[in-house]
Amino acid sequence: MNSSPILQITDLRKSYGQTEVLRGVNLRVNAGQLVCVIGPSGSGKSTMLRCCNLLEVPTAGKILANGHDVLDPRTNVNRMRQDVGMVFQQFNLYSHLTAIQNVSLALRKVQKLGRAETKAAALAALERVGLAHKADAMPAQLSGGQQQRVGIARAIALKPKIILFDEPTSALDPELVDDVLGVMRQLRESGMTMLVVTHEMGFAHAAADHVVFMDGGVVVEEGSAADVFEQPRETRTRSFLSRYI
Ligand code: ADP
Ligand code: MG
Repeated sequence: MNSSPILQITDLRKSYGQTEVLRGVNLRVNAGQLVCVIGPSGSGKSTMLRCCNLLEVPTAGKILANGHDVLDPRTNVNRMRQDVGMVFQQFNLYSHLTAIQNVSLALRKVQKLGRAETKAAALAALERVGLAHKADAMPAQLSGGQQQRVGIARAIALKPKIILFDEPTSALDPELVDDVLGVMRQLRESGMTMLVVTHEMGFAHAAADHVVFMDGGVVVEEGSAADVFEQPRETRTRSFLSRYI
């Protein structure tokens, strides 16, 4: 297994006013790895992900994403964001655009592809999530699971080096969750590097190469899925996991 880091977060700190919500987070994702982040609501998981592509500006620390020094003012943020894809809990699709138009937008605007190239790349991405036949559907005509798969297609169309997922199945009806997790497993099989915040403990246990438990703005414990789920060392980890049994 290739062990070069695609994402390396060192002593990441973020404050909102007087409140420090990230208090020195260290985290590493190697090429081809699926790393899952678990932890209670309010522990800083979303903030940490959003710092990685500068949707939030950290207060201190260092983030290296595919060689980009994210916090260096000289870094080309648009270029960096092409390497760091993001999939959101609420899908964030444009409701007035079709599935393929949603996937195409960044290809045209950011990558400046021509019309034919854009269409081919967008269709290929929709194909990978099993939705080529829904290319011309509006988001409202799609199930939540299908909308999230469009969100994933939009991310993979840009050929990122890593995709950050922020609770990608939390907004879905339970029967649609497996659909999206299945697409994520396939992505992982294809070698995509992924950092996934999730409450799907079954998925994290079965699919993650590495599991990180965050609480109170720090990484409390991390290790293999077997270590963290079957032999958690920390009281806080055990107490958190006991709510899922
Ligand atoms: P998680 O994703 O683990 O639930 P978040 O990263 O969303 O946690 O939030 C961590 C903490 O930061 C929470 O206490 C939240 O209220 C606070 N927070 C998040 N975003 C903001 C913001 N824009 N302004 C002020 N506080 C925020
Ligand atoms: Mg969150």
